[in-house]
Amino acid sequence: MTHPHTAADLGMAGALLTIDLDAIRSNYRLVRDRAAGAACAAVVKADGYGLGAAMIAQALAAEGCTHFFVAHLAEAVALRPVVPTADIIVLHGPTPGAAPAFDANRIIPVLNSPQQVAEYSAYAATTGRVLPALLQVDSGMSRFGLTEAELDDLLAQPNALAGIELRYVMSHLACADTPAHPANAAQLACFERMRARLPGVPASLSASSGIFLGAAYHFDLVRPGAALYGIAPQNGQPNPLAPVVALHGRIMQTRQVPTGAGIGYGHTFIAQYPMRLATVAVGYADGFLRSSNGAAWFGTTRLAIIGRVSMDSIILDITDLTDPLPADALVELIGPHHDIDAAATAAGTIGYELLTNLGPRYARRIIGA
Ligand SMILES: *Cc1c(COP(=O)(O)O)cnc(C)c1O
Repeated sequence: MTHPHTAADLGMAGALLTIDLDAIRSNYRLVRDRAAGAACAAVVKADGYGLGAAMIAQALAAEGCTHFFVAHLAEAVALRPVVPTADIIVLHGPTPGAAPAFDANRIIPVLNSPQQVAEYSAYAATTGRVLPALLQVDSGMSRFGLTEAELDDLLAQPNALAGIELRYVMSHLACADTPAHPANAAQLACFERMRARLPGVPASLSASSGIFLGAAYHFDLVRPGAALYGIAPQNGQPNPLAPVVALHGRIMQTRQVPTGAGIGYGHTFIAQYPMRLATVAVGYADGFLRSSNGAAWFGTTRLAIIGRVSMDSIILDITDLTDPLPADALVELIGPHHDIDAAATAAGTIGYELLTNLGPRYARRIIGA
């Protein structure tokens, strides 16, 4: 992502979040091609991982995507007018009493428990129609879905799925970002066993990382989220995806400090020699996590973040910068020198958490809108 940017792009904001919609499109095509033979959904929960669900859904619908997953009904209802003909699927399924709202908005639930199946089936009976749904089974994550025993019980009841058109049986992998983890093959075997009890029903197992475990994990529908947004799918492997986000912060002031100066809250950093510092208008209230102890870049020069991240600012060590910083200079916090995964690692977390935290105070610039 080498698009030029200046302080003028920030308007009144302290930082510029650049979102490359062209890169999201090309990442969608890449994962779709990796899972050729399966349909490729797009997961746009949490407002498209913080980047804008409506904009992303619209762009990917134009690429031919026809299935969109969100976590909550409210997210689905907001998306309904944006992609009027697509299937919008709610991972959490219906809360008690929510079935009519699913139906009224043509939203498809994932049914995750015997109770959700029973309630949705009972609601369908009151309408006299057959309603689409997915059924989640737990293949070994212990989070959502029917256990093998619950699936047996369900299928032992006559008319257990009455009024429900089962679009897919699905499950979710716990360790797919670690290809050698034995849980992957164990979950695959469990999923194969459980889906065999629902003959003829299409299946869905993999999110982003699972797609890269190979064709055995693809089934009929894949559900990438993070990969669309440029997050590396596999630990320790080169990232085949295009970067989607960049974050550039505005320098508010620079200063010279003497040996012994305490820097930032708690004086966790004390200058051991005379230093030059720059204060940048990005902090943990912007989702730049307080645990961040990485760096920013000015051009190709690495500038360490020193002291604690404040609510609205961070302090950089610019002692080694040979050129004085121009007034209103911007520094790269996420970008070509430091991608979302690297910035997350420097904060002791994963790209998913950093991405979904990036806050509402940034100016946003969309490439490829
Ligand atoms: C969030 C989620 C996804 C998308 O996961 P990524 O790792 O972001 O690709 C897919 N399926 C389920 C059940 C999820 O909860």
